[in-house]
Amino acid sequence: MDLIRAEIDISALRHNFRQVRKLAGRETLVCAVIKDNAYGHGLLPVAAVMADEGADFLAVADLSDAGTLRNAGFKLPLINLSGFLPTQAADAVNLNVSQSVSSAEELLALDRAAKKQKKCALVHIEVDCGMGRLGIPAPEFSALFEKAKSLKHIFIEGIFTHFPSADTDIAATKKQAVLFSESVRQCPANIIYHSANSAALINCPETRMDMVRPGLMLYGLHPAGTEKKIKLKPALSLKTSVIMIKKAKKGDRVSYNGTYRVKKDTELAALPIGYGDGFSRLLSNSGEVIIKGKRYPVAGRVCMDLTLLDLGTNSRVRPGDEATLIGKNGRESITASEIASKYKTIPYEVVCGINNGIKRIYF
Ligand SMILES: *Cc1c(COP(=O)(O)O)cnc(C)c1O
Repeated sequence: MDLIRAEIDISALRHNFRQVRKLAGRETLVCAVIKDNAYGHGLLPVAAVMADEGADFLAVADLSDAGTLRNAGFKLPLINLSGFLPTQAADAVNLNVSQSVSSAEELLALDRAAKKQKKCALVHIEVDCGMGRLGIPAPEFSALFEKAKSLKHIFIEGIFTHFPSADTDIAATKKQAVLFSESVRQCPANIIYHSANSAALINCPETRMDMVRPGLMLYGLHPAGTEKKIKLKPALSLKTSVIMIKKAKKGDRVSYNGTYRVKKDTELAALPIGYGDGFSRLLSNSGEVIIKGKRYPVAGRVCMDLTLLDLGTNSRVRPGDEATLIGKNGRESITASEIASKYKTIPYEVVCGINNGIKRIYF
């Protein structure tokens, strides 16, 4: 058995997808966002579950992921939500990826590559309505749309925008949705219009349009502030095993730089996991881990491959016992969101940070 394992609960993924479907309604397409190794849950297995549940599109943020999916036999429409270089245009066309575009240069590169391959390049034009990242600024959208229409080997399959604050500012999100609708008012109806990430899908029904693009909620993680609005099941657990127990005396200092001082005679447990695996060093002296249904505090600095816990006395924890860093263990559970709040990040970073070399086990 691997000393560290990420367990992925497929029935939880299914449950979460069905919650998305319920919210989106029958008329709305669902694009399952599986970028960054499916938020750390494993690209191909998650893609298979989403395809089986009836996802209409899969979204990646990297053409090489699209290649991996095509090589594995996935026939579903794929969107690359991220940018690309002109030198990658031929790949995008060859893989039948719907490529997001923000500029005339990108359109021209795809048009040229498609002409060479005697095909059409599928594009989704991104409109920047306030994200300020990729996308053509809303006032310049019409000109880019006309340009796209004029290119013979470009097929405008979709037009979309992305919200910066659907979790924290619903009013601003509604305004951005209005700006998007106004920007595309003159465009034909048979294009797929889309905007909603998880937070918008939950918080702003008017952003659902022709298709929704949830990521986070598919994995059972709530956009901030939506815990009461929808029931999701976290799909990922991160576990390891205790490898050593040792006694420590009052006053002993523990781990690098001696930042933890033992308050009274105690037992320490060593876990073979550290920041190199994605258990952040920012959890030094603040993280908790569950063993036999009880939480124990991280003692001292998290190291690259080791973390110590203060067990106190009489814990009955032994080498080989399972230690849960994320997930449920007995009556206790620790979510990626709880960990994220401990070092002022978001649950996305916690799950994406789990080293891709760690074995994923599906059940
Ligand atoms: C990541 C991403 C999403 C999914 O966002 P979640 O908050 O995980 O639901 C949707 N659209 C775009 C453009 C993205 O980059």
